[in-house]
Amino acid sequence: MNQPENRRFLLIRRPDGTPQPDDFRLETKAIPTAPEGGMVIRNHFISLDPAQRGWMDDAPSYMPPIALGEPVRATTVGIVHESRIPGFVPGQWVLGLNAIEDYSVVLPDGFTSAIDIAIVDRPSRYLSAVGAVGMTAYFGLLEAGQARAGETLVVTGAAGAVGSMVGQIGKIQGMRVIGIAGGPEKCRRLIEDYGFDAAIDYKGKSVAALSAEIAAAAPGGVDVLFENVGGDVMDAVLLNLALHARIVLCGLISEYNTPDKVGIRNLWQIIVKQATIHGFLIAGYVDRFAEGGAQVAQWIGEGRLRVDEDIQHGIEHSYDAFMRLFSGANTGKLVLQIA
Ligand code: NDP
Repeated sequence: MNQPENRRFLLIRRPDGTPQPDDFRLETKAIPTAPEGGMVIRNHFISLDPAQRGWMDDAPSYMPPIALGEPVRATTVGIVHESRIPGFVPGQWVLGLNAIEDYSVVLPDGFTSAIDIAIVDRPSRYLSAVGAVGMTAYFGLLEAGQARAGETLVVTGAAGAVGSMVGQIGKIQGMRVIGIAGGPEKCRRLIEDYGFDAAIDYKGKSVAALSAEIAAAAPGGVDVLFENVGGDVMDAVLLNLALHARIVLCGLISEYNTPDKVGIRNLWQIIVKQATIHGFLIAGYVDRFAEGGAQVAQWIGEGRLRVDEDIQHGIEHSYDAFMRLFSGANTGKLVLQIA
């Protein structure tokens, strides 16, 4: 019988712009044993997030860069394989910040917590609806964006994991919701699957053309911008702000693979409209996940919130799966199932 092994998806070279297959290597090692006071997790679901692209760069951020030769850092959902930590027992489901690998060694001061999979339809929900993605949408819109009924909300990256939830939560709050996404199929889904009021395809359009479409969809101006993309898309929305608009700066995915950052050229509009920009990081809300998760779970149970997951399979497909985020191929929260 084959010995079970630990496959690990290593970062071996820092990407220069768009990540290439040769920036990574899949190695096979023996399954680790739990150190004194630690445990070993068998990872089942790996969260693939745009943030991982930033962690691959040696640049100042809210976390240190992934060290070369180490597996790509990732949030995972898995099962305790061996434990020498009181309170954690083999067979128990946990969520933690680990890596793209079959087995992770976890030390007690890490971010690992037990999860109750009985309250969700599948464990990967802890990476989407009730995980960091869902909580980004929830706290980002309601706390950072101070969303209010009757206001106009524009969401960029609208058909993605965060964006699709932001728009739906905006509708639940009584807002007029306009989504900007890539391609006619994603725009159809914004209206038909997620209940947005209007959808705008940004592909192949100049800032001026995009701005004109936003103006037509939001004649009274944009009260809240939930920004996931940056670059030309954000520049076009900035030309349409309402007085005292609030901008939740959540992500800038159009720049993540661009060494020479695109930059925003219409910042003057922030002054003109006396707008505010709130740099949002979900790490600041971890102690409120139970509260946000309960509300999101309730909305899902009531059929008011739809959360799609794009589940890819096999650790050997890590690179191709990860790159779906940048081609726009992912339909919902991108998750890699490896067990
Ligand atoms: P998504 O599910 O939205 O997937 C990424 C999407 O981004 C793609 O499907 C694609 O959609 C779009 N995209 C990719 N490249 C470009 C580009 N060059 N220009 C415009 N759009 C592009 O991912 P997430 O929901 O996980 O993340 C969305 C954003 O939220 C990211 O910016 C991420 O960094 C940010 N985020 C921030 C957090 C925080 O705490 N601040 C926490 C979690 C996420 P399309 O086909 O429409 O182009």
